[in-house]
Amino acid sequence: MRLSCNGCRVLRKGCNPDCIIRSCIQWIKSSDSQANATLFLAKFYGRAGLLNLIEAGPDYLRPAIFRSLLYEACGRIVDPINGSVGLLSNGNWAECQSAVDEVLLNGLPIRQNPSSNVAAQHQILPLNAQTSATCPRTSTPLGTSARLGHRPGSRTL
Ligand SMILES: [Zn+2]
Repeated sequence: MRLSCNGCRVLRKGCNPDCIIRSCIQWIKSSDSQANATLFLAKFYGRAGLLNLIEAGPDYLRPAIFRSLLYEACGRIVDPINGSVGLLSNGNWAECQSAVDEVLLNGLPIRQNPSSNVAAQHQILPLNAQTSATCPRTSTPLGTSARLGHRPGSRTL
């Protein structure tokens, strides 16, 4: 008798020999952590979204994709604007890693780290304050301006 993989078990979906989740979670040692990671990602990206993102790559890359999505999601929660790339470039990667560890260990929804000043630098300004004159110099090129579709030199508002 074939057992359902820990990913399908927690998603309550049918598992089969071609299951795309099974191979994705084998790098995670404990079965509880496998379930925690799958459930967390299914909540973050949506169940169909998660499966689509994994299926977008060839079989042999899917475990790496799953792992990447996990770090991406955790980074985005810790730093909603700059995400995991921001944490990496700001020297705060340890926060991303500890969020991933937390998800694997407890499966709890992780929260934005209040001790982090990363997010505080990027408080969202009211739209009418977001003119080119007052655009904070601290924002990265991929930060607030790109998110709001604000182009340098654009006067449309
Ligand atoms: Zn499965």
